[in-house]
Amino acid sequence: MTQKRRIEWIHWLVLGAGAAICLYSLLRFPIDKTDWRFLILAFVLIGFSARLTIQVPQVKAHISFSDTLTFLALLLYGGDAAILLAATEALCSSLRFRRQGVAIKARTILLNTAVMACSTFLTATILRLKFSPITTIPSISHWPTLFLALGIMALSQFLANSGLVALFTALKTGEAFWLTWRKHCLWSSLTYFSGAAAAGVLVRVGGVINFSTMLVTGVIVAIVYFTYRRYIEDIKQSARQAEQAERERAEQAERHIVELSQSIEEQKRISQALKESKDRFRHAALHDALTNLPNRVLFTEYLQKAIARAKRDEEFIFAVLFLDFDRFKYVNDSLGHTFGDQLLIEISNRLRSCVRQVDTVARFGGDEFAILLDGINSSTLAIHLAERIQQAMTAPFCIDGHETFMTTSVGISLSTAEYEEPEEVLRDADIAMYRAKEGGKARHEIFDKAMHAQTLLRLNLENDLRRAVERREFYLVYQPIVHVNSGKLYGFEALVRWRHPDRGIVPPLEFIPVAEETGLIVPLGQWVLEEACRQVRDWQSDFPEFRTLTLSVNLSGRQLNDPKLIQKVKDILFETGFDPSRLKLEITESVVMENAEVSAVLLKQLRALGLQLSIDDFGTGYSSLSYLHRFPVTTLKIDRSFVSRMGQGDENLEIVRTIVTLAKNLNMDVVAEGIETQEQRAQLHALGCQYGQGYMFAKPLDAADVEVYVENERQLATNGTPTPHLPPPQEIEIIKSSMVM
Ligand code: C2E
Ligand code: MG
Ligand code: MG
Repeated sequence: MTQKRRIEWIHWLVLGAGAAICLYSLLRFPIDKTDWRFLILAFVLIGFSARLTIQVPQVKAHISFSDTLTFLALLLYGGDAAILLAATEALCSSLRFRRQGVAIKARTILLNTAVMACSTFLTATILRLKFSPITTIPSISHWPTLFLALGIMALSQFLANSGLVALFTALKTGEAFWLTWRKHCLWSSLTYFSGAAAAGVLVRVGGVINFSTMLVTGVIVAIVYFTYRRYIEDIKQSARQAEQAERERAEQAERHIVELSQSIEEQKRISQALKESKDRFRHAALHDALTNLPNRVLFTEYLQKAIARAKRDEEFIFAVLFLDFDRFKYVNDSLGHTFGDQLLIEISNRLRSCVRQVDTVARFGGDEFAILLDGINSSTLAIHLAERIQQAMTAPFCIDGHETFMTTSVGISLSTAEYEEPEEVLRDADIAMYRAKEGGKARHEIFDKAMHAQTLLRLNLENDLRRAVERREFYLVYQPIVHVNSGKLYGFEALVRWRHPDRGIVPPLEFIPVAEETGLIVPLGQWVLEEACRQVRDWQSDFPEFRTLTLSVNLSGRQLNDPKLIQKVKDILFETGFDPSRLKLEITESVVMENAEVSAVLLKQLRALGLQLSIDDFGTGYSSLSYLHRFPVTTLKIDRSFVSRMGQGDENLEIVRTIVTLAKNLNMDVVAEGIETQEQRAQLHALGCQYGQGYMFAKPLDAADVEVYVENERQLATNGTPTPHLPPPQEIEIIKSSMVM
């Protein structure tokens, strides 16, 4: 038999028993004993008693009046009346619950009724065994017997009732009967014993006092009852309030937790945003804004890693290429910064296309770029890359309709075990790059130890030079410039000399470039001009022949860029009282042409002071004729290299001839530098070159020697010794077409 069927059977069994008991009791009902008190009892029991319950504080138990009244009916009217009243009360209570919305099946209602009928029947039967008829129990004067009777009544009602209820529950839940009974029913024993006790008291009291006294007692009991109910209600209320407060606290705690988790979420969001912004700040902080290439900081980081790896792994070689674009500043200044920026972007794109994926191209600023070749087999790859870059630069850059060409000087440093810091590698690549520039630009150089030694020497020279300016270790020599045909003195070129305390005389070709780079040439050049003007003005007052002689002074590119140059020249002329028409400022051709537009303006301002201008080393600086004729220049000085090679082939001779012709066409004087032989002098004379300067006539002389030289010249003139005149120069073909050299 299945469990379900077993439950069904038990249900029907109890229902059948209940129905039979009720029928049996109805038939035996003592109708003759029913009086108005029975009716009141029935009315109160069926109508209200179930509602009149008292909860025992701290315990699940309720003391119900229905139990008391059932026991009362049992004691006063016997078992049959009590069975019918109890069954009816159970039926009515269940129906009332259903009316109040509690879902109770009809069968459950009937079961409740049957259970009540059965348990009361059992109680009545047990009582009858000892006390028959039951109605005699109230009159038992022997207290212990009375207590026994009441105890048997309560116990049997409790056991029968709770036993059946526990049985149904256990069958339903599958739990053990004993456990179910203990858990759900044990506590209810209190109800039965208190009910039996109350019933006992009432029947005993009812026996000795009359109805009105009972009524008063009932009222007092009702007052006590309702006061107690009120007290219980208050307890419940405060419990509810405590519960409410607890709930609010819990809700508050819950809200707090929600707020806390929201705040944690917010914190997380903020720290994420902070991290992202940090990252962004790092894209921005480690990259060049214009080209988006890594900047110096990031490059240094990568280089540091490469150095560390090279230390760990002997096989690992890296190389750093340092690039500087030749004449970039010139392009930037002449075509504008927007153009320059575009050019840098184009350059960076081309560089990127030359390297491998693992290599790093970085921009350090301006036109300085660096490349890290990470892990190469040999130095050959670095050289190949330098060549590939030079090759990539040969194509013109076309930006905004302008076409421009760029070349780059590349310095290469290869990894060695001695490198500790990135700065050392970069320094050496930089040195090599400078060497490439010095070696004629658009080329590459690999750093070697000798370079380092030279750089140190150069550094020392730089330091010594700074001190030399302060200590006035410079002095001037003057090289005569003569008429080529007659050899007669035309003027002097002032040339600076450095008397180094340890090294002796240092030639200008060694220190002038360093002075240029460091900017020391500006104060030095100013001193040269001032000293030369003062010296020659002194000679002019001592020797009348000096008054017609010219004084040539060299002006460097840095001086030309000095915004105070015009004022300084003006001041020197004023302070020394030197006649400006006798002064010739020599500016190297490459310097003048480097920024022709600016030079044109400056040269005009200098010319406006009344002095003459000479383009030095002419032929080496790629003059553009379109500019040349706009310069207010009075003299072209043919570079010594053309003069010295005139005898070696027609080409150099033709160049000299062209320069002389050009000067004539532009109404300029020509001075040939470096005439060392009679043959050169003769050729220059034949080409129509008016003036010359060279060891053949005189080496640069110090001030005392100049005075001797001039004295000799005077004596030669007074003694009437004829100056060795050369035959007249050949006819010069005037070249009218424009040309670029
Ligand atoms: P420069 O202005 O072209 O000067 C001419 C150079 O040629 C001088 O060299 C002179 O001594 C040399 N020279 C003249 N005739 C001959 C010759 O027949 N044979 C040979 N081998 N050399 C001859 P120096 O004095 O060594 O000066 C070299 C350069 O240094 C000058 O070239 C000039 O560019 C620069 N320099 C000299 N003094 C100054 C100065 O005070 N200021 C500036 N800015 N530059 C100066
Ligand atoms: Mg010169
Ligand atoms: Mg020269």
